[in-house]
Amino acid sequence: MLHTTKPADYIPAEKLTEPSNCPDCGAHGVLSVGVIHLGHYRYNGQVRQGLIWTCSDRCFLSWEAAHFMGKC
Ligand SMILES: [Zn+2]
Repeated sequence: MLHTTKPADYIPAEKLTEPSNCPDCGAHGVLSVGVIHLGHYRYNGQVRQGLIWTCSDRCFLSWEAAHFMGKC
């Protein structure tokens, strides 16, 4: 099961080859071309982890809060 950055939503494996709109930036693309991260998130008051899909590495940077990112 693959989550989007909205953890209540998930993407069944058989949908990965289908076109879709990114739930964060709205970009249109094929799910299997995107980027998959291991993410931690709070859902129903509990911290969970799961695979999270974003449409590109750029989209992930816009989703990740800046204070969690390292400074170079
Ligand atoms: Zn996106």
